Amino acid sequence: MAEKLADVAVSFSSVETQDLAKSYGRTRALAGVSVRIDAGKPCALLGPNGAGKTTFLAILATLARPTSGKVLYGGAPGVARATIGFCGHGALVYADLTARENLEWFGRYLGVAAWRARAGDLIARLDLAEIADRPARSFSRGQMQRLSIARALLVRPRLLLLDEPFAGLDAEACAAVRALVREEAEAGAVVIVSTHDFTALGGACVQAIVLRRGRVAATRAGDGPLDEAALRELYRQA
Ligand code: ATP
Repeated sequence: MAEKLADVAVSFSSVETQDLAKSYGRTRALAGVSVRIDAGKPCALLGPNGAGKTTFLAILATLARPTSGKVLYGGAPGVARATIGFCGHGALVYADLTARENLEWFGRYLGVAAWRARAGDLIARLDLAEIADRPARSFSRGQMQRLSIARALLVRPRLLLLDEPFAGLDAEACAAVRALVREEAEAGAVVIVSTHDFTALGGACVQAIVLRRGRVAATRAGDGPLDEAALRELYRQA
């Protein structure tokens, strides 16, 4: 059934899940997750392998459907895809185009205001300038990851979902991603970052959710940024 336009959020200040569940055959990837993440308060999503983090982010990104339960975007049951920036495991870029061509093409295609300037800014922020005019297929893993993150940020997302963004990144790139996470949140986005790397994420988030076997095992909303030790402690408790 087609969604009514009023049910599709284009601007929202929170994302909430209600008893979200997802099964793949007999595997329960999510078994009833109810959480709320507010704009401006970047959230760490932690948990061991197979805990359900990628499944959770894919459902929020509307790339997968829940088996039951709901996602509400500022209270609305649907969301305009163009408001979501998602960086998942596979790079959503054209291998034959250069980094700059990819960002400029997607920027135009997705209707980003001042797309050329935005692409140029992200190339600089993610230290892609030296390789920006090389085809993406020649990139190393870390270079490709930086391009994927730039691609997710292009649309100035209202909802930014980064699934293990630090994988393959050097210390400098990790710092750039932490800074971008904070900036996008300050600009009013709902930001969720999944990772196993507490060192890389430390200080970027002010709340955290730990998933275990598809359920919420612990949550924490700090008064300020959660540093590496706070993330480790929460994980240990869970
Ligand atoms: P990791 O830290 O290893 O990336 P994760 O927390 O992101 O793990 P998910 O990828 O969400 O975990 O997987 C949750 C569970 O769902 C796992 O048991 C996984 O095997 C299963 N699963 C995920 N995707 C599928 C699929 N397409 N088909 C079948 N099972 C799946």
